[in-house]
Amino acid sequence: MQPIQNIYPQLAQPKKVVVTMHQKPDADAMGSTLGLAHFLKQFGHTVTVISPTNWANFLNWMPGCKDVLDYEAPNDKANNAIAAAEWIFCLDFNTLSRTKRMEEQLVSAAAERILIDHHREPQTAVFAYGISDTGKSSTCEMVYDFIVNSGHEQMITKEIAECLYAGVMTDTGSFRFPSTTASVHQMVAALKEKGLDHSQIHENLFDNFLESRFRFFGHILQNRMEIFYEYNTALIAIPQQDLIKFDVKTGDTEGLVNFPLSIKGIKLAAVIIDRGEERKSSFRSKGGFDVNTFARTYFNGGGHFNAAGGAGKDTLDEEVAKFKKAIEENRSQLSSYQF
Ligand code: 5GP
Ligand code: MN
Repeated sequence: MQPIQNIYPQLAQPKKVVVTMHQKPDADAMGSTLGLAHFLKQFGHTVTVISPTNWANFLNWMPGCKDVLDYEAPNDKANNAIAAAEWIFCLDFNTLSRTKRMEEQLVSAAAERILIDHHREPQTAVFAYGISDTGKSSTCEMVYDFIVNSGHEQMITKEIAECLYAGVMTDTGSFRFPSTTASVHQMVAALKEKGLDHSQIHENLFDNFLESRFRFFGHILQNRMEIFYEYNTALIAIPQQDLIKFDVKTGDTEGLVNFPLSIKGIKLAAVIIDRGEERKSSFRSKGGFDVNTFARTYFNGGGHFNAAGGAGKDTLDEEVAKFKKAIEENRSQLSSYQF
């Protein structure tokens, strides 16, 4: 993988470009791809943004979102764009397997693949150019750096600012996590100068849920949350019937894992959801417990030090049993926390 700076001199030559992200994109994945797409279009590139799967409705306000292709939608547009592409930007994921069914097409594409990402252990061999920096708060921050470092800060429009703000704000937990550096705040100040209305974006992302989501949360917190005080750990295991009963849609469960993490003393929180085709897990920690390693070791996943996830084919009961065994194996580290 050559350093990302090596493509700066080529930016001014129009190309066919695909920009893609991880499956079930969050605001950082969608914001970084759209922010980059708006930037590249100004040079005359033909840019197609593709998501490997559908996404949450609360991302639809993002400028350009209505033109994003869903790879699982029944038409050839995405495959045609990938086949014709000269560049494929891969944003906010570290391994091509994070694009699910799109992986095969990405592997066989003739295009140069370019990585911009902040997850651990990237698959550098499959990228022609790229930057991987786990010290960065968000991929949106990295796209901002890409634009500024390539000498084009003046090309940041209000639309780009809105996309990038959405990702940096959500990936930092509203500027709360330790990843929120001085550079993050400086970036936000610069985006404000470009006309960013940050209050509107918080409203778009956080104040657009249906009543059913909160009824679902009520049920889950009352009936599905288990606390293991001796391990400073909380687990929420959600059977598929709950998703059906409360008409839970893509994105509705985002943020649920943070509720148990706000209980005094809880250091590790997990949510395991039976999504039918697989069991999806989310892990969050506070302080020194490394959930990236935890997810890799026990749940076929990965992510960041304090936020990670995984997916598997075992039943929900088996996943829960695996989790209980895993916290027992990590007992010395988990139980050492002082209340
Ligand atoms: P979330 O819990 O929000 O789904 O994911 C938290 C973090 O873990 C994200 O940064 C995401 O990229 C990573 N992650 C989630 N699920 C998986 C997975 O199945 N495999 C890997 N390698 N990373 C994941
Ligand atoms: Mn991210």
